[in-house]
Amino acid sequence: MPELSLLQRRQRVLGSQSPLFYDKPLHLVRGEGVWLYDADGRRYLDVYNNVPCVGHCHPHVVAAMHRQAATLNIHTRYLDEHIVRYAERLTATFDAPLDTVMFTCTGSEANELALRLARFASGGTGIIVSSYNYHGNSASLAEVTTALPSPEPFAAHARAVPIPCLYQAAPGTSEEQLAEQYAAKVAEAIASLKAQGLRPAALLIDTLFANEGLPRVPAGFVNKAVALIREAGGLFIADEVQSGFARTGEHLWGHQAHAVVPDIVTLGKPMGNGYPLAGLVTRNELVEAFGRSALYFNTFGGSPVAAEVGMAVLDVIENEQLLANARNVGAYVQQGLERLAAKHALIGDVRGKGLFFAAELVRDRQTKEPAGLEARRVVNDMRERGVLISKIGAGDNILKLRPPLVFGREHAELFIDTLDAALSAL
Ligand code: PMP
Repeated sequence: MPELSLLQRRQRVLGSQSPLFYDKPLHLVRGEGVWLYDADGRRYLDVYNNVPCVGHCHPHVVAAMHRQAATLNIHTRYLDEHIVRYAERLTATFDAPLDTVMFTCTGSEANELALRLARFASGGTGIIVSSYNYHGNSASLAEVTTALPSPEPFAAHARAVPIPCLYQAAPGTSEEQLAEQYAAKVAEAIASLKAQGLRPAALLIDTLFANEGLPRVPAGFVNKAVALIREAGGLFIADEVQSGFARTGEHLWGHQAHAVVPDIVTLGKPMGNGYPLAGLVTRNELVEAFGRSALYFNTFGGSPVAAEVGMAVLDVIENEQLLANARNVGAYVQQGLERLAAKHALIGDVRGKGLFFAAELVRDRQTKEPAGLEARRVVNDMRERGVLISKIGAGDNILKLRPPLVFGREHAELFIDTLDAALSAL
């Protein structure tokens, strides 16, 4: 019998639907900084992965993980210096009154826990999400998810509100009008929950709207939506699983761009640079009140190793000035993308913040018809050319560009030149 390929063995034991990137799946064996290496020794520039925010296999993070794993790793119900030191350092980066942290292992768990806290604190069950959202894979998140297929029907206690985008807005609409129009949709969603006898518990949104494709949100929209949910007795949960840890180049946290302090902030992906570390930050009284009713513990979340890894990630962000790097190199990439948009009519819009970009591909700049097939070809062609990117959006036509934060100008140049070549070859 012929030997099975790695792909065939994977499909046999993980099931054939377990998702893989690219028409020709990539077999990676090593990572370093912004580079990934495949089984044939070929090098790829990583312009997609935000989890290794300080770079793949950063030696400082690896050393911290190794040191603590060789000393003590245990569940979280003992006194432990590491978790307390990390919690102190992490909460110090948030605005008052966000001063207390609960650790988990995944972003899904963090959002699930945030929903429990919000329901408890508000006494309500109603949830408002974006109409193209993904916040995690637990049962209560799956039933409010709209960006990925799932067999669960959309929850009767949830309402999905479209997120405004200046690029997609009707011509002549001012930023202020657009913010008003969409805030009115949040107000409608709240009224509709109430009409059904449901009290709103939370507005759950990603403040960068990463999965939505980084829409150009009109100034003031988030603040208006937050004011409405609070007026209705609900809480504002800011999902920072993608927008946190210096990604935006402006602030450490994505919500800070909207000048609003959330009730709960959820964290994940880059927090452990690949080690499963996530959590939420909120005000002390919420955690105290919840804790009097629920005995919540998480076996692995915030273990000594997780805490040391989290500390090491914060060290690198600070020591290597990655917030400034995201801002500076991000501006450079943005300029490069704008140059490409001037050359290739397929690029309808380029949007970016720090080191997170969306390039919306359209067949016609007037009608903005999504160029989903073209996006797929570009993503696969880029992989063949040694640069890893992906795509998002309801039309699957928005290039998703989100490299590790140690991305430099030389990497930006290679990325832009390769994208230029891939677009020219279409
Ligand atoms: N929130 C957002 C905004 C996400 O993008 C994701 C994952 N893509 C999650 C939450 C869930 O995180 P995890 O996969 O760690 O459960």
